[in-house]
Amino acid sequence: MSSRPVLIREDGRRIDGRKPDEIRPVKITVGVLKNANGSALVEYGGTRVIAAVYGPREALPRHISMPDRAVLRVRYHMAPFSTDERKSPAPTRREIELSKVIREALEAVVFTQLFPRTGIDVFIEVLQADGGTRTAGLTAASLALADAGIPMKDLVIGVAVGKVDGVLVVDVNEVEDQYGEADLPIGITPNLGEIVLFQLNGVLTRDELRNAVELAFKATEYIYKVAKDALHSKYMKLLEEVKV
Ligand code: ADP
Repeated sequence: MSSRPVLIREDGRRIDGRKPDEIRPVKITVGVLKNANGSALVEYGGTRVIAAVYGPREALPRHISMPDRAVLRVRYHMAPFSTDERKSPAPTRREIELSKVIREALEAVVFTQLFPRTGIDVFIEVLQADGGTRTAGLTAASLALADAGIPMKDLVIGVAVGKVDGVLVVDVNEVEDQYGEADLPIGITPNLGEIVLFQLNGVLTRDELRNAVELAFKATEYIYKVAKDALHSKYMKLLEEVKV
């Protein structure tokens, strides 16, 4: 059995050299898939996730459709090559649970009442897993919905806060997730300031919880800027193409 790594070094930095309140490099590209109505590729350090949106379109099978709103369907899935050991492509209990919590987070922002009897399908595919795949996936999904032109109250930006060697750290990587004491994935609507996804693995004190939420809000503020730039640059590119 491998021994537990030191997660906070003597100089106070983390195993990958980051400060506790420092997120990994964030890269976001919108409109990366030609055949989907909306798509986004999101990278938080080594975690790389793609999301694709289809719809609103006829909800099939028809019995799932709702007379007063669109039905949102979400599939979170880890590609077999996304982890160090090949993951079975069949959906696991974990993936089914994550699909549900991500769907609930998105339902809080999508104006589903505008599209009765239709379905909106969101596919989240983890290409490379290095911690925080559900939160990167949630960010990607909200951007793919925006890219598909689906009206929303706000975007959703996800980030995971952890407690490692007694220290609160933001945007946990896989080693921190694996060996840390607690892990708190959060989804935030950056303009409304609401929390739409909130999970906790492990134990935190009240003060730690308060500080963790504060760290998450600060981190998502920055990620939101990157996300807005990504959406903006896609439309600027489109505009350029129209001009030519
Ligand atoms: P999240 O990715 O949202 O943090 P978890 O806390 O369940 O979700 O997983 C933490 C990390 O553990 C993942 O990001 C991934 O790097 C790794 N992991 C999860 N499931 C598997 C798996 N089946 N095989 C290998 N690694 C996995």
